[in-house]
Amino acid sequence: MSTLRLINPTTTELIAEQSLATAADTDAAVAAAKAAGPGWRAINPADRSRLMRRFADLIAAHAQELGEMETRNMGMTIGNSVWCANAAADTMHYFAGAIEKHGGSTLPGVGGVNLTFPEPLGVVGLITPWNFPMMMAAWKIGPALAAGNTAVLKPAEITPLTTIRLGQLALEAGIPEGVLNVVVGTGQEVGWRLVEHRDVRKVAFTGSTAVGKRIMAGCADQVKRVTLELGGKSANIVFADADLEKAAAAAPGAIFDNSGQDCCARSRILVQRSVFDRFLELFIAAAKGFTIGDPMLPTTAMGPMATEQHLARVRTFSDGLDTAYTSDVPDGPGYWHPIMIATPSDPTAAVCRDEVFGPVVVVLPFDDEADALRICNDSDYGLSGSIWTRDGSKALRAARAMEAGTISVNSNSSVRYWTPFGGFKQSGLGREHSMKVLDHYTEMKNVFIATGD
Ligand code: NDP
Repeated sequence: MSTLRLINPTTTELIAEQSLATAADTDAAVAAAKAAGPGWRAINPADRSRLMRRFADLIAAHAQELGEMETRNMGMTIGNSVWCANAAADTMHYFAGAIEKHGGSTLPGVGGVNLTFPEPLGVVGLITPWNFPMMMAAWKIGPALAAGNTAVLKPAEITPLTTIRLGQLALEAGIPEGVLNVVVGTGQEVGWRLVEHRDVRKVAFTGSTAVGKRIMAGCADQVKRVTLELGGKSANIVFADADLEKAAAAAPGAIFDNSGQDCCARSRILVQRSVFDRFLELFIAAAKGFTIGDPMLPTTAMGPMATEQHLARVRTFSDGLDTAYTSDVPDGPGYWHPIMIATPSDPTAAVCRDEVFGPVVVVLPFDDEADALRICNDSDYGLSGSIWTRDGSKALRAARAMEAGTISVNSNSSVRYWTPFGGFKQSGLGREHSMKVLDHYTEMKNVFIATGD
C-alpha cells in the first residue's frame, strides 16, 4: 500500500500521510456494500430516516472541527468551510425526510392495475473532487442512502480528511457498517475500479469534464447508470439597466470565492458596452476589498490554491496575461495566486473559453441582449449563470435563452439542496439535489396486477 503526503497549502507543511487503497481494497468495499444492502433496506423508512437525521445532527455538531480540517487540507476559508459543514448537515436532513416521501404511483389499466416502484439500484459508486470535498460527498451520500442503496465513496485522494470523518460520523450515528464505505485511493485505481466493477450499478461523478467523459465511456460497457457534474465557464451578464453598484459588489464573491476553484464560478463577466467602463471601475474597487491571506482567519475572503500542482495549472492561463487589475499575494510560503481581472480583446483566447478554476476573470463587452446571449452560449459548458437587470421581462427571456442549468437573476447564488442542480452540454448529465435526484438513484419498476374484470 503506497502513501501520499497531504500538504497544508497555506503553510506547505505536512499535515498527514495518507495510505492509498488498491483495486483489491475497492473490491472488498464493494462486497461489504453489497452485503449490507438487504439489511439497510429492511430497516423501516421512519427508522432509516431517524438514522440519517442523527448523522446530520452529528455533522452539524462537528461543523467547526470539520471546517478546520477542510481549511487545513485544501485552503478554503474557515467561514466557507464551516458553512459547507452546516450545508452538508442540512442536505442530510433533507434526504432523511425524502425517505418517507419518495414513492411510486398507481395507474389504472384495462383488466388490472399498474403499480410503479422506485427500486434501489444496489451498490453505487460515488466519486468526488477536491474543491468542495465535504459538501460534494454529502450531496451524493444523502440521495444514495435515502433511495435505499449502499455506497462506496472515493474522495479525491489529496483532500480525503473530511470525507473520512463523515464516514466515521455515519457509523457513530448508527448507520450500519457497510452501508457507507469510504475508500481513499487514486482515480486511476480506485475510481476506475468502481467504473468497471460489475456489482457497482451506478457511478455518480463530480469532477472535470475530461475525466467525466472517460467515466461515461467506461460505464457504457455495462450500460451502467452514470450521472456527471462537470466543469463550467459560467457567464455573469450585466445589462446597462442593472443596479451596477449591486452587481459589482456581488461579482468578486462569484468568481474569487474558494480561490475560483468552483464549478459555478462566474469566470466570464459580460457587460453592456455603454456601462462597461463604469462597471469595471466598480468591480475593481470591490475586488480590492477581497482580502487574500490565512484562510483560518475569519476576516480572510480568499486563501491559497489547493495544491502546488493546481497553482501551476492556473498559471498556464495567467502567466503573461494583460490585466486591468492584479492583486498582491501574501509573502512567505503557500500556494498563492493573485486575483486577476482581464479585459482581453480576443474573446476566443483560452482564458475566455477554458475553465481556469482559479481567481482569474475576463470582462467582455456586448452590444445588446442578442449579442450577450450569443457570447454566453458560445461555450461547450453550460453549468450556471447570472443576469443583472431591472427589467423583469428581459431577465426571464434571457434566463430561458441561456444554455445553462442553474441561473440566478440579480444574484450570483447557485446551489440549494431543495432545487435541481446540474449542467447543460458538457457541464454534466443528470441533476443533483431536490426530490428529482432520487430518480437517478433508483430504477423504476412497473408491476401489472390482473384483476380479472
Ligand atoms: P478530476 O476529474 O481530476 O477528479 C475528480 C475525481 O475523479 C477525483 O476523485 C479523481 O481522483 C477521480 N478520477 C480521476 N481520474 C479517474 C478515472 N480515470 N476514473 C475514475 N475516477 C477518476 O477533477 P478535480 O478533482 O480536479 O476537480 C475539479 C473539477 O471538478 C473541475 O473541472 C470542476 O469544475 C469540477 N466540479 C464540478 C462540480 C459540479 O457540480 N458540476 C462541482 C465541483 C467541481 P484523484 O483523487 O486521483 O484525482
